[in-house]
Amino acid sequence: MLHEFLLLGCGTSTGVPLAGCVCAVCQSNNPRNFRNRTSGLITFASGDSFLIDAGPDLRHQCLTHKVRRVDSVLYTHAHADHILGTDDLRAFNFTLKNRITCYGTTETLQGIRSAFPYIFAPNEKYLGGLVAQLDVVEVPPLGEMSVHGVLVKYFPLPHGNVTVTGFRIGELGYATDCKGISPEAREVLQGVKILFLDGLRWEAHNTHNSIHEAIEIARSLGAETTYLIHTTHTIEYDEVSRKLPPGVKLGYDGLRVRFEDYSATR
Ligand SMILES: [Zn+2]
Ligand SMILES: [Zn+2]
Ligand SMILES: [Zn+2]
Repeated sequence: MLHEFLLLGCGTSTGVPLAGCVCAVCQSNNPRNFRNRTSGLITFASGDSFLIDAGPDLRHQCLTHKVRRVDSVLYTHAHADHILGTDDLRAFNFTLKNRITCYGTTETLQGIRSAFPYIFAPNEKYLGGLVAQLDVVEVPPLGEMSVHGVLVKYFPLPHGNVTVTGFRIGELGYATDCKGISPEAREVLQGVKILFLDGLRWEAHNTHNSIHEAIEIARSLGAETTYLIHTTHTIEYDEVSRKLPPGVKLGYDGLRVRFEDYSATR
């Protein structure tokens, strides 16, 4: 079955432009230097849609790309730039009249519950309008699970003290917020065709891949095309694109790719 991945945002935790910054990238008119917080949306062949993280730019991203459906969400981890749009998920509760299933590891779901206590443990005295109607499903740090009838393979990624969930669906692999990759991730991602991979900036960082590290990971996995995501305002799209090796590209907000999940018999 052929599915679509839409890159809703490819920016680092601050977004690009960085508020208050007067550097050339932050003042650039090139739309590819405008990066919302890193997030994606998979629309399966069935029409069901699977959001990858619900960051602070979620509402704006959905309006920009005319997203009409969010049926479920995979949270990669509970850092603010990946979860703080959670409240805005209720727009889809209103329009679709459905509850939304949120997938994450125990650690990630714990972080989301404590960031949004009024959603997961509502205080009747304090309620205003309708809170987001969310159901949670725990995913194993390593393993596979069907989402809307499509097999999703999950694996852990090292991100400082936090373990991030990466995933693979057929030809597509996604590994945001990581410094290196785990042996488990390496096994699952081997030979991946389309890879979205953390490549923060040229300079080294404690918890994110530098672009040099990302290139090396992509090469070692034999990835056919790798899109670097979670990039900062030190990355000028055209200038850096010219320096990347064949098969490695910068992601950009609004990028759409189609991919197979190898289960054509369904
Ligand atoms: Zn992040
Ligand atoms: Zn800047
Ligand atoms: Zn993070």
